[in-house]
Amino acid sequence: SITPATLSAISNGAKKGILFKGGVHLERLGHLNAIAFDKTGTLTKGKPEITDVLVRDNIDKEEFLLTVASIENHSNHPLAQSIVSHTKTTLNRDLLQPDGLEDISGWGVIGTIGAKKWKIGKADFVDKDDATAFSNGISKELAAQGKTIVYVQDNEGIIGLIALKDTIRKETKEAMAQLKDLGIYTVMLTGDGHKTAEAIANEAQIDHHIAECLPEAKVEHLKDLKRKYMNVAMIGDGINDAPALATANVGIAMGEGTDVALETADVVLMKNDLSRITEAIKLSRRMNTIIK
Ligand code: ADP
Ligand code: MG
Repeated sequence: SITPATLSAISNGAKKGILFKGGVHLERLGHLNAIAFDKTGTLTKGKPEITDVLVRDNIDKEEFLLTVASIENHSNHPLAQSIVSHTKTTLNRDLLQPDGLEDISGWGVIGTIGAKKWKIGKADFVDKDDATAFSNGISKELAAQGKTIVYVQDNEGIIGLIALKDTIRKETKEAMAQLKDLGIYTVMLTGDGHKTAEAIANEAQIDHHIAECLPEAKVEHLKDLKRKYMNVAMIGDGINDAPALATANVGIAMGEGTDVALETADVVLMKNDLSRITEAIKLSRRMNTIIK
C-alpha cells in the first residue's frame, strides 16, 4: 500500500513535470548509482540541422536532396525528419513517391525509385570502403565536430553524404554535473559513430560513452551496468530505447518521446527537462530517509 508521504511526493513531482507510474519508482530513484542516457533526443534536442551536403561531381545536388528526402519521408528517425523539412523549405518541390521502402532501425533506410535502389544511412550500412574513399578524411573532421554523417548510395556506389549537427539541451551539462555531485555515474549509449559520440560526450561532460550501439546492444550494456552498479536508470525517447527502458531498474522517458518509450517507462519527464531528474532523486532520498 502507498504511504501518505509517497502520495504527496508523487503529487509534488507531477506539479514539477515528473510523472511517476507508481510509488515504487519514486522510491527506487533514491537508490540509483548510475544512469544511462540515450543521445539523440535525450541529451540533445533531437532536431539535427543539416550543415554539409557533399555530392560527386556528376551528381545534381538538388535532385540528390529531393530523392533522399523522398525516401527519408517514410522514416521517423530524427535525422530523416530534419532532412525532409530542410529539403521542403530549401527546394519548395513536391517529394517523389518511392516504389519500395525499408526502414531499418539503427542503420538507415532503403528506397527504390524507378530503376534505382538507394541506401541511406551510416557507414556500416552502405559500402563502407566506398564511403571512406568518397569522404577522403572529411567525414572524420565533420564527426570530430559532433556531426552525424549520413551516406547515400545508389546502384553504382556512394554518390554523396549529408552531415547533421544536433545541439545538446541547455540543461544537459548542468544536470550531468549535479548527478556527479550526487555520486551518480553517467553513461551515454548511442547508435551514432565513435567520433561523433566522443564530441557530444565531451560537450555534455558525461562520465562515459558507448558508441555504435544497436538497439539490442543497449540492453546488453544496461545489464552490464546493473551488474556493476546495482541500481541503474535508463533515460531515452526512441522506439529503439524501449527494451533498455524495460531492462533498467527505473526506465525514464522524455515527454516528447515516441509512444512506445512513454508506455514502457516507469517515469516520464513531461517537460523534457533533464534537470528534473536530480530534483526527483533528492526528493526520493529524503522520502526514503523519512520512511526508514
Ligand atoms: P541514435 O538515436 O543514437 O542516433 P539509432 O540507433 O537510431 O541511434 O541510429 C544509429 C545510426 O544509424 C544513426 O546515427 C544514423 O547514422 C543511422 N540511421 C538510422 N536511421 C537512419 C535514417 N532514417 N536515415 C539516416 N541514417 C539513419
Ligand atoms: Mg533518441
